Amino acid sequence: MHTETIPVLIVGGGPAGLSASLFLARHGVRSILVERHAHTSVHPRAKGVNTRTLEIFRPLGLEDAIREAGAALTRSTNWLFVETLAGTEHRRLSRRSLFELPADLEQISPTTWALCAQNQLEALLVETAHQRHCDLRFGNELVSFVQDPSGVTACVRATTADTQHQIRADYLIAADGASSPVCKQLAIPMLGRGPLSYSMNIYFRADLRELVQDRWFIMCFVQNPAVQGILAAVNNRDLWQFHVQYDPANGASPQDFTPARCIELVRQAVGLPQLSVEILSVLPWEANVRVAAAFQRDRIFLIGDAAHVMPPAGAFGMNTSIQDAHNLAWKLAAVLNGPAAPSLLSTYESERRPVAQFTTEQAALRFGNQGMPEQTSKNIARVDDTVVILGYHYPSPAIIAEEGAALPTTQLDLSGRPGTRAPHLWLEKQGQRLSTLDLFDTHFVLLTDQQGQAWYESAQTIATSLKMRLDAYRIGLDSADLIDREGRWHDAYHIVPGGAVLIRPDGFVCWRARAQEAPSQSLLETVLQRLLGN
Ligand SMILES: Cc1cc2nc3c(=O)[nH]c(=O)nc-3n(C[C@H](O)[C@H](O)[C@H](O)COP(=O)(O)OP(=O)(O)OC[C@H]3O[C@@H](n4cnc5c(N)ncnc54)[C@H](O)[C@@H]3O)c2cc1C
Repeated sequence: MHTETIPVLIVGGGPAGLSASLFLARHGVRSILVERHAHTSVHPRAKGVNTRTLEIFRPLGLEDAIREAGAALTRSTNWLFVETLAGTEHRRLSRRSLFELPADLEQISPTTWALCAQNQLEALLVETAHQRHCDLRFGNELVSFVQDPSGVTACVRATTADTQHQIRADYLIAADGASSPVCKQLAIPMLGRGPLSYSMNIYFRADLRELVQDRWFIMCFVQNPAVQGILAAVNNRDLWQFHVQYDPANGASPQDFTPARCIELVRQAVGLPQLSVEILSVLPWEANVRVAAAFQRDRIFLIGDAAHVMPPAGAFGMNTSIQDAHNLAWKLAAVLNGPAAPSLLSTYESERRPVAQFTTEQAALRFGNQGMPEQTSKNIARVDDTVVILGYHYPSPAIIAEEGAALPTTQLDLSGRPGTRAPHLWLEKQGQRLSTLDLFDTHFVLLTDQQGQAWYESAQTIATSLKMRLDAYRIGLDSADLIDREGRWHDAYHIVPGGAVLIRPDGFVCWRARAQEAPSQSLLETVLQRLLGN
């Protein structure tokens, strides 16, 4: 059988796999992505692209494109609670309460939430991946794999031609979704609970503009004697979704949702018995709260829904999946391209699994507030969305933690502490306004000021000796590399003049020079070697 070789094989062409392909390409790592379907999903599924996801897509130049792809939903700022869409409206909630946006968000991030249907986001990721010469193979299914100490050998079947060939990869990323065949073959248990509910997601075409008028909603909760469910906007014109639950305990099943039944349900929700409705696709789904017992098995990594499944409330699922890919990509690149030891890869699980556990529980708590069954089996407090989205932090060997109290998961601490997402600050570089976050992309970055000249020079020397890219910037006024007109740098990063902060390629602070630490090349080199697992 013909065998191809590649550094990374990605299985699954959903948001997690496509993002992994793009992030790896950004790091100069070649990969092959196989997706069993002939094209991306037609079903819209997720719509909320959260602040952290947009932050990580910014350096790839995708922020504006995502907003544009989701432009039809820009005005969808409400939750409605109605008897039917055409009938009585009981209550309306606005976007600020919806997304729990803090008043000072612009101090925290250079960007904010966008709405973009998942099928449109996937199409955009595919288009971008093609432009960047990523190797995406739709209509190709992983049928089996074996791994040995030096790599993974996968058997892939071309679904239309029904031919098979082998791909030999250094590493395999399983982004193969909620019923991950790779996770099953590895016999990794999915721990947690569920199904909490069984739903059908009906994607339909009907012109509802006259009924919606200026009440643009992202979700419209319908409750009347005939039907209970949620209408969701897709393009605010003629494309919409209706989520409705069914109960297998009462003998109901997905087979009950024939096209005729789906049309009837939509008409009952809208409140117009003669409404012209075309059913485009129907997707059964179960709300589960489960996290894989392991995210890594030697050379194989689980990301996205393959690693964690959660109810859609909070819109965390797709975002957490993309952020997994972002965490893993720079580590694979650092190992494959040279400076890091393979042990760095084990920090993918130690960093992302606790985030997945926390986020799935937060999604379960929100699910209970959306008219769905209350599902707080554990004594866990709900925290603000912004804390879930931006406040997670990594205690791991790839972070040099500071002494003192452990960071709480219930508060937003973006003050430059190692393990947290680096603080956002508007700066100027050669006359261009940029966020500190825009500096964190494919390599480590050292930030200091003009009094930290010795740190700056050490970084440059070490980059050469370790044969790695390490960018260093002096922040300040006038002749600095980065101009801080508002003079916020020291306060934002909680450092003294002459101090330094080291940030990983994924934008997380990994080390901060404390006040008493004199600039030292050997200290910085030791820090970097430790972070890279050497
Ligand atoms: C109704 C609904 C609403 C949602 N709303 C939101 C939301 O608002 N916000 C949010 O963040 N998330 C939301 N989600 C969750 C979101 O859709 C998922 O978290 C997201 O799709 C996960 O992406 P993924 O790439 O990990 O998996 P998937 O999108 O499931 O992609 C996995 C891919 O792997 C492929 N595959 C599987 N096995 C193989 C194989 N052997 N060979 C080749 N290919 C294979 C599959 O065909 C599939 O395309 C929602 C989900 C649902 C069902």
